[in-house]
Amino acid sequence: MKISKNNKNIKFNIKNKKNNINKKKKNVIKKSYNRFILNKNEINNNYKNILKQNFKKPLKFISKNIFINKKISVLDLSKKMSIKSKKVLKFMDKAGISGNVNDFLNQKDAILIIKKFGYKPVLNLLNDDFEKKILKERNINLNIKKKIRPPIVTIMGHVDHGKTSLIDYIRSTKIINKEFGGITQHIGSYHVNVNNKKITFIDTPGHAAFKLMRLRGAKITDIIVLVVSSDDGVMPQTIEVIKHAKLYNVPIIVAINKIDKCNNTTKIKNELSKYDIISEEWGGENIFVEISAKFGTGVKDLLNYILLQAEILELKVFYNCMAKGLVLESYINKGSGPVANILIKEGILYKGDVFISGVEYGKIRSIKNEYSLYINKAYPSMPVEISGLSGILSVGDEVLVIKNEKIAKEIINNRKNSLKNKKFNKYKRLNIDKMFSMVNDENISILNIILKVDVQGSLEIILNALKKISNNKVKINIVYSGVGNITKNDLDLSITSNAVIISFNIHIDNKIKFIIKNKNIIFYNYFVIYKLIDAVKILMSKLLKPLFYKNKIGVAEVKNIFNTSKSCIIAGCIIIEGIIKINSSIKIIRNRKKIFKGKLESLRHFKDNVQEVSSGLECGVGIKNFNDIKIGDILHIFEIIKK
Ligand code: GDP
Repeated sequence: MKISKNNKNIKFNIKNKKNNINKKKKNVIKKSYNRFILNKNEINNNYKNILKQNFKKPLKFISKNIFINKKISVLDLSKKMSIKSKKVLKFMDKAGISGNVNDFLNQKDAILIIKKFGYKPVLNLLNDDFEKKILKERNINLNIKKKIRPPIVTIMGHVDHGKTSLIDYIRSTKIINKEFGGITQHIGSYHVNVNNKKITFIDTPGHAAFKLMRLRGAKITDIIVLVVSSDDGVMPQTIEVIKHAKLYNVPIIVAINKIDKCNNTTKIKNELSKYDIISEEWGGENIFVEISAKFGTGVKDLLNYILLQAEILELKVFYNCMAKGLVLESYINKGSGPVANILIKEGILYKGDVFISGVEYGKIRSIKNEYSLYINKAYPSMPVEISGLSGILSVGDEVLVIKNEKIAKEIINNRKNSLKNKKFNKYKRLNIDKMFSMVNDENISILNIILKVDVQGSLEIILNALKKISNNKVKINIVYSGVGNITKNDLDLSITSNAVIISFNIHIDNKIKFIIKNKNIIFYNYFVIYKLIDAVKILMSKLLKPLFYKNKIGVAEVKNIFNTSKSCIIAGCIIIEGIIKINSSIKIIRNRKKIFKGKLESLRHFKDNVQEVSSGLECGVGIKNFNDIKIGDILHIFEIIKK
């Protein structure tokens, strides 16, 4: 009974509410109809008034501030200035700035355009600057002294030459395994004690982590041990290691392995000398050690030589500062969430430290060493596992300890924002403009090239030819060269090092072609050497610094002088010949002598700010940093042309 009564009440309430809503709706419609009638009458009256009025053009140009970031698209800039993008593009064309509506302008070009249209450019604080400003706070106190840190060593070489065997031998004999039951945690790196000194080995025989770090430009390793098998000699990966080591200026110690099997040391020394790896006995700088990873022969010597090389390198870092590290691996660990294996590069890392890495941050909950033992702090060159991260870190990223969580979050938000912009630009063409930005202080442009060819013979010929055409205006920098097909690594290297890929006489497989197209990598494949060299010459010419020259466009005579309220002087001129444009350069001639050289600051025709005034017309001219203008002065007007 009770329920049905309630139901009735509910139904009644709903009905009431519906009626109310309908009434409200009707009222709203009625009101808006009345308003429409009223508006209609109003419009009629106003229309009559408008017919009576004369349209007046605003007397003053309203200049406003245009805020810009590091980069802005032509479209966005046009919108900000409320100027049609067509007009902006037209100006860009005249000024020699290439690009279409969706292209991004650099700050310099954007400023030029903004000023051209009479607005004031205001630079937003750049993302990078923002971070730099904050990171300054973690600057090292220079009163503290640097101390030697253990060397970080990577064992590399051709497949099957014995890298894993060597790592295993060192690990099994040198790690203080008795103390910890011999169990070492695989954390991508471990350190050994030799004569009370430590050596850190990066434990990545596959070099996957190393490759990634190398591509990111992070130099993690101090010394490379290049394993060359005595029975196999110098192989392609041996040469690849040498080239990459040279690229990053990492010293190489050659370990000639498997000497228990055969001894071809002299032959290997000979082969390696072609790649500028010359033993000390032969007058070079490289240490050669004969070893057997299987039986341990010579391994002790190798470790001593590593310490010797480290001493020469004087690997000194600050210990008493906020820690800095590099990510070797990162994954989700059951129970402790995302963890990362990192190598401390500087400072001491403490439990509880707040840090940032890539777009993640965290507060270190635990630090574990390579024996899976919890520790409270980690010293430079020590490999450790850390937990307490906001997410998985990227291999090769820097880990930076930061003062507090608030600052860490600010930096991460800032990084995430700039990443959004970068993502937008991710597949943007690696274009000449970008390469052009690599012009260094000495005004030399650098053309980075990755060269892949069919056989060793052509490699030498092409390298020689490229050396000859490299000059002091555009320098050719061979980022990498080698024999064989183009690999995914070459493409990654091309993107990270802003290099063009040039290949000779090789077949490009479809997958690679697809990536090249997709990522807009500049790529040329030739089958005739002189055509390849010509193509490089054309690229070089595009990197030449533009020439600017003056072109006289008009002459004006000063007829009157006006003092403005801002206490600057405006010269009332008549254009005798040609044209005058805003941003023109001028020479002032008085009594046939040049008395000033400078730039126009403002240009008016009557009361309007204008872009140009042509022959026979009057105009008001403001000159930058010059107030001594006199009646009778002659202005020679020039425009700067970029070629
Ligand atoms: P990696 O591919 O460079 O890591 O090479 P491995 O360490 O896997 O070694 C490849 C092969 O060479 C294995 O069968 C090893 O047992 C063997 N090997 C490694 N070092 C030596 C050595 O010093 N002497 C001999 N006789 N064989 C070795």
